[in-house]
Parts: sequence; structure tokens; C-alpha cells
Amino acid sequence: MHSGVLKLTDYLEFDGVTKRFGSLTAVDRVTFGVKKGEFFSLLGPSGCGKTTLLRMVAGFEQPDEGRILLNGVDITRMPPNKRHVNTVFQNYALFPHLTIFENIAFGLRLARLSKEEVAERVHEMLELIQLTGQAHKKPTQISGGQKQRVAIARALVLKPQILLLDEPLAALDLKLRQHMQIELDTIHDKVGITFLYVTHDQGEAMSLSDRIAVMNRGRVEQLDPPARLYEAPRSSFVAAFIGDTNFLEGTVTQLIDSEYCRIEVEDFGSVVCYNDKHIKLGAKVYLSIRPEKMHLTHDKPVNLHDGKVNVFPVTVDQLVYQGAYTRFWVWNGKSKDDCWELSVLQVHSRYLLDQQPILWDQKVWLSWHADDGFMLENYDAKDENLLSYPVTEEGEATSAGADEHPAEADHDNGTV
Ligand code: ATP
Repeated sequence: MHSGVLKLTDYLEFDGVTKRFGSLTAVDRVTFGVKKGEFFSLLGPSGCGKTTLLRMVAGFEQPDEGRILLNGVDITRMPPNKRHVNTVFQNYALFPHLTIFENIAFGLRLARLSKEEVAERVHEMLELIQLTGQAHKKPTQISGGQKQRVAIARALVLKPQILLLDEPLAALDLKLRQHMQIELDTIHDKVGITFLYVTHDQGEAMSLSDRIAVMNRGRVEQLDPPARLYEAPRSSFVAAFIGDTNFLEGTVTQLIDSEYCRIEVEDFGSVVCYNDKHIKLGAKVYLSIRPEKMHLTHDKPVNLHDGKVNVFPVTVDQLVYQGAYTRFWVWNGKSKDDCWELSVLQVHSRYLLDQQPILWDQKVWLSWHADDGFMLENYDAKDENLLSYPVTEEGEATSAGADEHPAEADHDNGTV
């Protein structure tokens, strides 16, 4: 049975696609579309089914149920060599005995193109990947990043309808990976071909993609442009897998107006939140609040935007200074055994000149605007394992000024 919710504007379409390996359902009733020319990523942890989905587009695996359409043509059962689809793999898969030129030319020669056309198309590709001067070299004589560019050129030279990329940068070191991300982006812009990109690296997916399908246990949890995934995650899995966050669980105790509500969080206090989901009085709610949307100050904030700013006294448990920013873990509650531990990220501008650094064990004020707490549709406690936690080894996370304890600020344990 198929979903029937496909849009005609989609170039690549997954319609109720399911793939099982024995008792394991690797891909579970996946339905979505990719638009022509899009840089589209499948993002998720190891084992979530993203490679299997990509391999079904390439024709290396067959779905047990559902259909895959490319440009309106059902390719579900079409042999791989009949599809206008090419794949770039993590391990490059170049022929070691052939030159760069011949590696790129390989598919064109198989297709029996004329010598002139082969030369013209290979040179066009060499120019695109900026390796014109290295065409005579063998793969062993070029760097990892250059090898990956050759692999991309070899796939693109065949003018596929869609280019599949399976973790193509995973074997490269960090600096090279960052450089190659920019190259990939430029190549995509120049050729205008649809890219379907598989990665478990959320930073890579966020910086490259027009849209991302976040996968978890064979299902697509959320499909959105990067900013929407980050700012408006629908589930605890998406909130925790993409970036870091804080989860708060509470009950709606007051509908303040048509837009805002008050939530009572046990052992924490009363929190004001933007009620975009129109949650009813008495309902249980899970909030996600990103660490950088929370603020720490020595003095109690005075501008509370008509009660829309949540303010709590907290104690710094741990902090890690990282140059551009400091990550704090603070606790709020009666005692450390009975409290909520929250992660706060403070970006520095002129750290030593302007800021009075907040130190370990200090009592400070935590605040965030009601609009920055985001209500989740689905919450699973297991997803908390994806969050970064304070380091536990003694002394490892304390700052250089950990011994200094300035006078405690005026704390009254109340909320505003
Ligand atoms: P990774 O990045 O680790 O490859 P993934 O998200 O791409 O992860 P898949 O490779 O698609 O995940 O695998 C999804 C699930 O299907 C995993 O549990 C995997 O062990 C299983 N699987 C994949 N291919 C096969 C196969 N040929 N036979 C049996 N199980 C398989």
C-alpha cells in the first residue's frame, strides 16, 4: 500500500519504501521527495538506514515494499546500469593503474564515445575539479582530497540524473574535510545536478544541504531545511542529534493568553513558554531549549519583557573555556542530588576586556526568553544519551580561576 502523498514537483520520489534484512527493518515505510537540482542529505546515526536507502536508488538493493521514481519513471526494479545514477563512495574506488585522465574517461570509453568527445568532457571535468595540471598522475601520486575530487568528476562526467554521495568526506582529516565541503558546494552550484548525500555528520549536512531528512531507526523523523531543523525540532531525537539542547518536562498550569502559557517543572519552578502547539491546560509538555539561547549574568536581569523572560538563580557546576565561547553546566534546585542540570553556551566578544568571567561554583542568574523554549511533539528519554554531559573526571572541566569565589549575588530562589 502506498501513501499517495507525493508531489508532482519532486524529481526523486520515495513512495512507502521498506527494506528488511531478515527480522530487521532497515528502512521503514519511507515517503518523501527530492527536488530537481537540490543538495539533499540523509542524516542520522550509524545503522539508521540511510546507506540502504541510497543503495536502493543506485539499484544495489531492492525494496521489499514501495516504489522509487526518478523524473517520473519507476526505477524500483531497473538494473543499476540502466539507471542514470552514479555513486561516489567514501573509499574513492579509483583504478590505481590508470591516470587521473583515464580514471575520469573510463565510463565514457565504455559508452564508446568518440576520442574527441572523451577528451573534451574529461578536460571540462578536470577544470571543474581544478586538477588540469595533474591529469597524467596516478591516484597514488595525489592527496586524499584530490582523489575524492577525481571520484566526483568520474561520476559527474557521465551526466547522471542524480549523483549519490555515500559519506564521501569521511576518510579525510578535519581541515581537508572543511575545504572539500566548500569545493562540493561550488561543484554542485556549477553543474546543477541533484545531489543525494549520506552523512552521519550533522555539521557537514547543515553546511551543505538545501534540505535534510533526519533518519532514526529506518524512519524519517523530520525533513526540513537546516535552520528549521535546528530552530524548530519536532522530536527529542532531532533536537539532541542536531546540536545540543536542554530538555525540561512539565505540566501546563496557566494559559496566559492566546500565545503564551505557564508550565510547572517539578524541582525547578514555573516557566513561561510560547505555546505554538496550542497545548491545553493540564497537558504534559517537553521543552527543548538550546544552550546558546540561555544566558548567565552576575546581576539579576531587569528587562523582563512583560514577564516573558524566565529567570532562575543557579550555581555553576562545571565550565569549559573554549576560546570563542564557554560551555557551562549549571544546576537549579534545593540540592545537587535533587536538581536540574542545564547546559549554557556563552559566546565571547571581548572576554578579558569587557566581561567579568563567570567562574566555577558561583551563584549567578540564568535567563531565557519564553520564545526560545520550543515544545516537542515527541519525546523519548533515550535521546538524552545524545547530549553532551559535563565531564566527570575530577578537575578536568574547571577553569583557571576556579579558586576565586566572588561575593554571592542577591538570590531569592524565586522565579519572575
Ligand atoms: P552506517 O553509516 O553505519 O552505514 P546507515 O545509517 O547507513 O549506517 P545502513 O548501512 O543502511 O545504516 O544499515 C541499516 C541497518 O541494516 C543496520 O542495522 C545494518 O546492520 C543493516 N544492514 C545493512 N545492510 C545489510 C545487509 N546486506 N544484510 C544484513 N543487514 C544489513
